[in-house]
Amino acid sequence: TTHLSIGEKEKWVQAPGNIETRLYINGEWFESPDQIHLVRPFDEQPLCSVHSATVGHIDAAVSAALLSFPAWRDLGPLGRKPFFRRLSALIREHVSEFAALNALNLGRSSEISKWELQHSADMYEYYAEAAIDIVGETRVGVDGRLDFELRQPYGVVGAIIPWNVPTLMFTMKTGAALAAGNTVVLKSSEKAPLTSLLMASLMHKAGFPAGVVNVLSGLGPVAGARLAEHPDVRKLSFTGSTATGRLLQKVSAETNLKKFQLELGGKSPCIVFADADLKKAAELLANSFTFLSGQACIASTRVLVEESVMEEFMGHFRTFVGAKEMNVLTDPTVDGADGLSPLVDEIQFKKVLAYIEEGKRTSTTPVIGGHRIGTKGYFVAPCIFENLPQSSRLIQEEIFGPVVCVNTFKTEQEALTLANDTQYGLYASAFSKDVGRLMRCAKGLDAGMLGLNITSPDLVPGFAFGGYKSSGSGRDGYKHGLLTMVEQKTVGLNYGSQAH
Ligand code: NAD
Repeated sequence: TTHLSIGEKEKWVQAPGNIETRLYINGEWFESPDQIHLVRPFDEQPLCSVHSATVGHIDAAVSAALLSFPAWRDLGPLGRKPFFRRLSALIREHVSEFAALNALNLGRSSEISKWELQHSADMYEYYAEAAIDIVGETRVGVDGRLDFELRQPYGVVGAIIPWNVPTLMFTMKTGAALAAGNTVVLKSSEKAPLTSLLMASLMHKAGFPAGVVNVLSGLGPVAGARLAEHPDVRKLSFTGSTATGRLLQKVSAETNLKKFQLELGGKSPCIVFADADLKKAAELLANSFTFLSGQACIASTRVLVEESVMEEFMGHFRTFVGAKEMNVLTDPTVDGADGLSPLVDEIQFKKVLAYIEEGKRTSTTPVIGGHRIGTKGYFVAPCIFENLPQSSRLIQEEIFGPVVCVNTFKTEQEALTLANDTQYGLYASAFSKDVGRLMRCAKGLDAGMLGLNITSPDLVPGFAFGGYKSSGSGRDGYKHGLLTMVEQKTVGLNYGSQAH
């Protein structure tokens, strides 16, 4: 067996020493000749290596999932329920291991991990019950005729997830798919594979039958690409960047036209009107774009402020943002410590700094933050750009780092036009005391999710999660996720009109 190698000094993270790093296929652990090497983002020290799936591993996992599908499907929602309940309980028992892995792999505070794991355990509990509500429609027609609908699982569902909230993503995908009676092959992100491996071992312990869920670490262009083109995968649930989403659609178009669930990137606008509580808006927005150091799809990264209150808003905003730089999570392995987290790896770090450099070259006003914090780890000081042109790449493209662009507007119409002027439409928000104005924003903003006098990450649990435009298609979360995991079959029945 290959185990995580963790240095001597991290005493409280001893437990993860038993985490598997191999590939979980058909209820067993397999090795690979290929490895992924992980680095701790807060101090750039080597963390460990995990086995990376080859095309052959993906094919074996799909075969196992296909074989185990009929029995899993035929258990029915009540038969499947105990697996989810046991899994939920196991997750709650292992929160500190998840927190340790997130700390080492992503530089996350234990508070953020507890928040993520709480949602994850709750969601599996929800899915334990919810599948019972998957029912079709019926219509009693003319004499001797009954028309009805079957809602049936697809079969093998592929899941490809990002690294930024890895366990929540794992849960959303597998919870919905498995509860509805599908079997799953999940490929985790090469940047954050460890919590998915821990989830696989907990699912094994919870007794999920061999092949029902298969969990593989692997590279996008190798393992992910194979899953996307595989003829036996009937549905692919993907969360990640818009660029990869486009690629996957193309692969699907050229292969078996598998059904898609796409949760993609964002560049979320927030409109701050002159009558808003400016200090409160500034505080919430400072939290929004620095939450996970901006590595959140729903981060509010474009702020549009009514011109007459720009000075006043910026006074508050600079203070709140400046305070973030003073509180950096340099050692996330200390339980209870909180603060600004690092970017996930060197690639992301360099990408974000390159955007900031470009912005600094073109900006005509002073830029706040944007420098590296310290000399070790991938920490970037939260950065504010003012009045960049609307065509700037920093306004049009998702950066996925602690960077926000603030611009002004004069009229409500102008604010809506600017807010809607990117390819994205995942999340948007507005602050005002005028309810009529807020309702016009609710109607006029092109986004799948909105906050009115609140902003991300303050979401609305139970409601649909997903985006307009190039931010994706389909919806995740609770019953919405569940309903995307079944096909609808329309049936017409002629049972004869005469009683004998
Ligand atoms: P990414 O697109 O680089 O990678 C996501 C996943 O796709 C990874 O598992 C990766 O290995 C895989 N992948 C990459 N290339 C592939 C290919 N050619 N074929 C198949 N799979 C491939 O995204 P990321 O950097 O991991 O995550 C950040 C992105 O995810 C951001 O754009 C963010 O907005 C988005 N995101 C969206 C949501 C949402 O719900 N809308 C939630 C979280 C993150």
